[in-house]
Amino acid sequence: MSQLYFSPMLLGLCLLVAVAIAATALWRMSRPYAGPGFWMAGCWSLIGGIVFFIGFMVTGNPVLNVLGNAGQLAGEAIFLLGIFRFMGRPLPWWIVAASVGTMVAFNIHYWVYSGNSDFLMGVYSTIAGLLPMQAIWLLIKARNDTVTRPARLLVGLSLLVYSVVTLMRGALGYLDWWQGKPYQMPYESFSYLLPYNFAIPALVMGFIGVTLMTMQRILAQSERHAVEARQSAERFERLMSASTSGVAILRDKVITDANTGLEQLTGLNRDQLLGLPVSGLFSASSQVRLRGYLNQGGVRQQDLLAVHRDNGPFDCEITLSPIGNGESQSILELRDISHHKALENQLNQLATRDSLTGTLNRRAFDTGIRSEMERCQRYGHNLSFAVIDLDHFKRINDQYGHGTGDQVLVAFAECCRKNLRSTDLLARFGGEEFVILMVETDTAAAFQLLERIRDALAGLDIPGLPATHTVRFSAGLVHWQPGDPADPERLMRLADQALYSAKRSGRDQIVAEGQPRRQQPAEADE
Ligand code: GH3
Ligand code: MG
Ligand code: MG
Repeated sequence: MSQLYFSPMLLGLCLLVAVAIAATALWRMSRPYAGPGFWMAGCWSLIGGIVFFIGFMVTGNPVLNVLGNAGQLAGEAIFLLGIFRFMGRPLPWWIVAASVGTMVAFNIHYWVYSGNSDFLMGVYSTIAGLLPMQAIWLLIKARNDTVTRPARLLVGLSLLVYSVVTLMRGALGYLDWWQGKPYQMPYESFSYLLPYNFAIPALVMGFIGVTLMTMQRILAQSERHAVEARQSAERFERLMSASTSGVAILRDKVITDANTGLEQLTGLNRDQLLGLPVSGLFSASSQVRLRGYLNQGGVRQQDLLAVHRDNGPFDCEITLSPIGNGESQSILELRDISHHKALENQLNQLATRDSLTGTLNRRAFDTGIRSEMERCQRYGHNLSFAVIDLDHFKRINDQYGHGTGDQVLVAFAECCRKNLRSTDLLARFGGEEFVILMVETDTAAAFQLLERIRDALAGLDIPGLPATHTVRFSAGLVHWQPGDPADPERLMRLADQALYSAKRSGRDQIVAEGQPRRQQPAEADE
């Protein structure tokens, strides 16, 4: 026990405990970097071995001696595995089993046959001294890992010192055994001087080296990450500024970043955009839909009305995509589609309107009447349908020219539009034949409406047409109510029959299906 009062062994143990604590901290702080876990485990195993050995010295229990030697060698071997792991090499697990197994075998032999302790110490030191050789070789020859080179060399050198000192100690052990020297007190023995005064400090140096190695790798990788992050930020910035679309990053529906495209589209500068709620980019009519898109977290290619500070509203298409998993951040892409919209409207106009009079064409009317009939059927409304044909229109062309005939058609359409409600449908079916669909209108009201048109037409001043020439028309009228067949062709047929009968009865008439009614005397202007 008195040996412990001034004991290099206790000092060595305390040094190793300090190293083990530092290794544990390194393992915790450098995760997920590979290597420190083994260094930590190796240190604690080494300490465990020394504690067993102290136990053996105090109690003389040979089992503790075996455990002590095995624990120390296992610790050293595990520590070395950490070097292989750090260097990304396959782990030579066999060095743990081989060194521990050999030591245990000799130790048991010594125990059973009461062998020489100097010889046993020689065996232990030989194994411990040879163990690091593979790792030293690996540390020195890894040339391509230039970043960790200085620290690697420090570790390699420290382990080399440790090995040489330990092998020297082994040689001394064999010599003592060979010469049959008597037992010496540790503080008088040169062989005891070696491990505690040189090998353990070399091991501490080695540990400082592996810490530096880890730090160098962490620093190098974080530097590389920083460069990559900067490059990716620059790439993103270039992409953002090259895009003609407006792009904004939103956090909680507020703009936190915006590209120059968005500045150009909205007429707001960057300072005005940053911190602006995204709703501030859109017109009042788009707010409800925008709120819906924001609440659902993302949307692709939806049309909205954005606002330019000076030029007012314009048609745009937006795509909203969440960034990452968090719902509070998203990226908004805004494209100006006003040109497409104008073209679309133009095409729509061409596809649905008559180019001369601007009324619906036959195809658009067909679609309109079907949906109106369905709606009236559903809500129990009635409607009236009229086919109108201008009387003796050919004569106008013949007498005043085709251009004047066109003016008459335009004037007639305008006259109808002025007298109809927005829900009514007016279409030119061809030549000088028009149709009108009057929703929620009975026959009497339809009569009144057509008469109003007729009166208005009579009072019109049409370019190229003498005031003495009154344009007149004949009309066939059909009434439809819910329960009647919702068949536009049938309505058309009945209205045509009524029109035919109006023409036959002398023109300038409005004839309702089944109830002819004479208006002004026909052919009055001929
Ligand atoms: P009715 O009273 O029996 O209806 O006789 P109408 O002369 O009005 O009828 P008709 O079918 O004999 O003549 C219609 C004319 O309308 C023939 C055609 O040249 C003319 N027309 C058709 N489309 C246009 C157009 O777009 N512009 C002009 N100016 N005339 C057209
Ligand atoms: Mg006609
Ligand atoms: Mg006609």
